[in-house]
Amino acid sequence: MSSSVTQVEAVRRQMVAAARAIVKAGAISRSGHGNMSVHLPGTDTMLLTNVMNLEDVTVERLPLVTLGGRVIDGELDPVSAEVIGMHAVVYEKNPDMGAVVHTHAPYATAYAVADRAIECWYEGLARFGLTDPIPVAKYGPRGSRESVTNIADAMDERTRGVLLQNHGVLTFEQDLMGAVRVLVVMEEAAELGLRAHAIGGPTLISREAIAYAQQRAQEFAAQGTLHAEPPHAGHSH
Ligand SMILES: [Zn+2]
Repeated sequence: MSSSVTQVEAVRRQMVAAARAIVKAGAISRSGHGNMSVHLPGTDTMLLTNVMNLEDVTVERLPLVTLGGRVIDGELDPVSAEVIGMHAVVYEKNPDMGAVVHTHAPYATAYAVADRAIECWYEGLARFGLTDPIPVAKYGPRGSRESVTNIADAMDERTRGVLLQNHGVLTFEQDLMGAVRVLVVMEEAAELGLRAHAIGGPTLISREAIAYAQQRAQEFAAQGTLHAEPPHAGHSH
């Protein structure tokens, strides 16, 4: 294993903070149900929450497990072990992904229940590059091989979020806070989409506008951080 003990402990603390951020953003159902994992780079292991309710995450309740489900450090309850496949499939399908978050965020889950993709009708989605429709992975019973296969089938290399039909939301990114950002922006987009349906339905951001926004974002990124101009030597009033 290439990650040191201190690195692993730092990741555990980040996961506790991420769980708090999700709860604070309200991207979670009333039950508080959710789970999350962080893949440790260069290993076949991940830290996985061993809680029913994300509010209950502490550093002690983040066992280290293999993607195949073997516990390396800590304890994993049977009900938490059921979600290993749902997390592992993301890392196996897209090795660039470093963290996975699952909740039943209420607005996004409404789209999952309706079997409707969330499309790019909100600037926030475009801002994070979530310009493809966020797909629905077909229903499979919790923990089943079928549910895991359906997630893999819904993903391509650009996917950062999947709606789990009749269930909830799965988001992922290269790092944990990225996965949380995707979850929160998806939930915002879903809330706006549902509200917009009351007044005629959401309108999509055009492909041309998305391409323009992506080009502008690349230009700004290439400039790096902007700083105030230092005063010129010899400048006088
Ligand atoms: Zn769930």
